[in-house]
Amino acid sequence: QEDAAMKEFDRSKLYMADLESGLHYILRAELANHHTLEGEKLKTFKDFVTILYKLFPGRPRVMKLLETLQEWLVSMPLDKIPYDAILDLVNNKMRISGIFLTNHTQWVGCRGSKSHLRGYPCSLWKLFHSLTVQAAVKPDALANTAFEADPQAVLQTMRHYIREFFGCRECAKHFEAMTKETVDSVKTLDQAVLWLWRKHNVVNNRLSGAPSEDPKFPKVQWPTSDLCPACHGQMGGMHSWNEDEVLAFLKRYYGNQEISLEFAD
Ligand code: FAD
Repeated sequence: QEDAAMKEFDRSKLYMADLESGLHYILRAELANHHTLEGEKLKTFKDFVTILYKLFPGRPRVMKLLETLQEWLVSMPLDKIPYDAILDLVNNKMRISGIFLTNHTQWVGCRGSKSHLRGYPCSLWKLFHSLTVQAAVKPDALANTAFEADPQAVLQTMRHYIREFFGCRECAKHFEAMTKETVDSVKTLDQAVLWLWRKHNVVNNRLSGAPSEDPKFPKVQWPTSDLCPACHGQMGGMHSWNEDEVLAFLKRYYGNQEISLEFAD
């Protein structure tokens, strides 16, 4: 199955297998580094679960897990939660019917040419791009939550998740510096989509040629012209982005209409 995934993977598609593998890694590996969640970490985790429950473009069995997790967190009066209790819920120890999240990683669009390349960090970018797009196309999704009418809801949640939990501490430092400077300029949900796209390209530019780069997947300014010819233009002989086209492209690429279920469990 692994070889098949490599061979038939289509760069113009977003794969549910990457998003679900990322979610599995977050909930069963990255969080497992924390014995107990409290204070800022607990708040960040609760906010993240709220965002996921409202915006993750998932299949019903994953959405039911997120809903159950969200309801459980809201009902918990504790200011400390042991990670093991979260894991029991993720593993559906209570055997609630209709809940399931894959328990291994199956990278497709995020598969590296070597096992230490790509994978989880790639899926985290894809996850957050998807969440900014979902927020923009479903502006009422966060009604009746603490994030109602907040155009920075997804970006601030991502910022806090990266700061509190992302295993790559160097990355977290860079991302915090970048976010701190500019995220307050984001005033609409569409601007949030474009902000994350722009910042991801800044990171791509910085990491081009770095040891973490997969030689089979060189860091490029994305989307390339084969994916979106209309996104690219020229001004005064210089390359320029057509941001209206980029926004439309991102809404298609990361929109839930087009997520491929191929290779998903
Ligand atoms: P990734 O950059 O992970 O991108 C994943 C996919 O997203 C691409 O394959 C493409 O389909 C799509 N994509 C690419 N660019 C864009 C864009 N602009 N907008 C929308 N979609 C896009 N690594 C370091 O070595 N140092 C760091 O400081 C560092 N900081 C990071 C900060 C964050 C917040 C994250 C999530 C990761 C960071 N990483 C860092 C990891 C690095 O950015 C890559 O994720 C990793 O090298 C894997 O690269 P990749 O080739 O899979 O592409």
